[in-house]
Amino acid sequence: MSGIERVASAKRACIVCNGELFTTVLSLEISVGGVGADRYNVVQSTICGYERTECLKRIPDIRLLYGPRYPPHQAQSVSDTIPGRSELSRLAAKCSGSLLYQTWVDPRFGSLPGPVRPGATALDIGCGVGLTLDRLKAQGWLTSGVEPVRSAAEIARQKGHRIYVDETETAGLPESSFDLIIMQHSIEHLPDPRRVLTECFRLLKPSGLMSVSCPNFDAIGRRVMRGAWTPLDVPRHISHFTPASLVRILSDSGFKPASIQFDNGSHTVTTSIGGLMRMKRLWRSEPIGASDAGSARANEGLDVPGVLNSVIDCLILPFLRLFRIQLKSAMVVLSTK
Ligand SMILES: [Zn+2]
Repeated sequence: MSGIERVASAKRACIVCNGELFTTVLSLEISVGGVGADRYNVVQSTICGYERTECLKRIPDIRLLYGPRYPPHQAQSVSDTIPGRSELSRLAAKCSGSLLYQTWVDPRFGSLPGPVRPGATALDIGCGVGLTLDRLKAQGWLTSGVEPVRSAAEIARQKGHRIYVDETETAGLPESSFDLIIMQHSIEHLPDPRRVLTECFRLLKPSGLMSVSCPNFDAIGRRVMRGAWTPLDVPRHISHFTPASLVRILSDSGFKPASIQFDNGSHTVTTSIGGLMRMKRLWRSEPIGASDAGSARANEGLDVPGVLNSVIDCLILPFLRLFRIQLKSAMVVLSTK
C-alpha cells in the first residue's frame, strides 16, 4: 500500500481531470498515533474541484494510520460503533451514527437491494470488521470483502465472510464475478481511487450494481466548519469528492452513474462543534472526530460527548425536517456497468 504524497510532489496531475493546478484550501497540524505530528494540507484542483490530502513528511504505509484503537475497526456489532464500556454509551451509539439511527433518520440513504437471485454475490471494498457484510449476509447475499488491515479483516472473517487481506487490485479476484460491489466510506481512504474503481469495473458482472458512498465535500457543514468538520478526518481521508467529481471519476472508470442520494443526519453538526471547541481549546477531552488521529478512548466508561451528541441530534432533526434543511454531509452514488 502506498503512502500519502509529499507536498513537494504536489505537481502530480489530478486523478479526476488530469489538471496540474492546485490551491491549498486547508492546512492542519495533526498528531497521529504511529506517525507522530505533522502538517497536512488539503489541496483542491482548480479545474474539477477534487481535493486531496498531502503531508510534509511522507507516510510510508497508510496502514500506520489505522492502529488497534481506530474506532470503526473495533466495532464488532452495530451497538459497538462508539467505543466505551458503559451501557449508556452503547445506547448512545445505537441512537447516533448507527444503522438504527440511519434507518430512522433517512431510510433511503445507503439502502441496498436484496440479492437478485439465490447465490448472488456481493463484495465490500474496505470492509473493516464486516458490519455492512453482516447486513448483506442477513439479506441472503454471498459475501466477500477486501480489507488490508489484518486485525479488522480477521474479525470479519470469523463472522463467515470470505475476506481478502489485500488491496483490491492485487487480491486476484476473478473478472465479472460480483452482482454488487460496495465502497461504503472507503474510497476517501484510497491514495489512488481511480485504479481501484477501474478494477471494480472489471470485477462487476455486466448486470451488476456499484454503490459508492463518501463524505460530500460540497456540504454546507464543510464550508462552515472547515478543519473541524468531522467527516474531514485528515490524514486518514486522502481523497475528497464533491458530487460532480465523484460522478466524473465513476464515469471515467467505465460506470454509468444512475442515481445520487444525500444523507441528512445531524450528527456531523454536533461532532463538528465538539471538534471546533477542541481546536479553540474550549473543550479539553480527547478528540473523536477530524483531529482524532488514532487516539480514540476505549473502555473509559461513559462517553459523555457521545451521549450529548445523541441528545442534541434528536433536538436538531425535527428542526431540519421542518425547515427542509439538507445538510448533505455524505452522499451515495449507485452506478451500473
Ligand atoms: Zn481535477
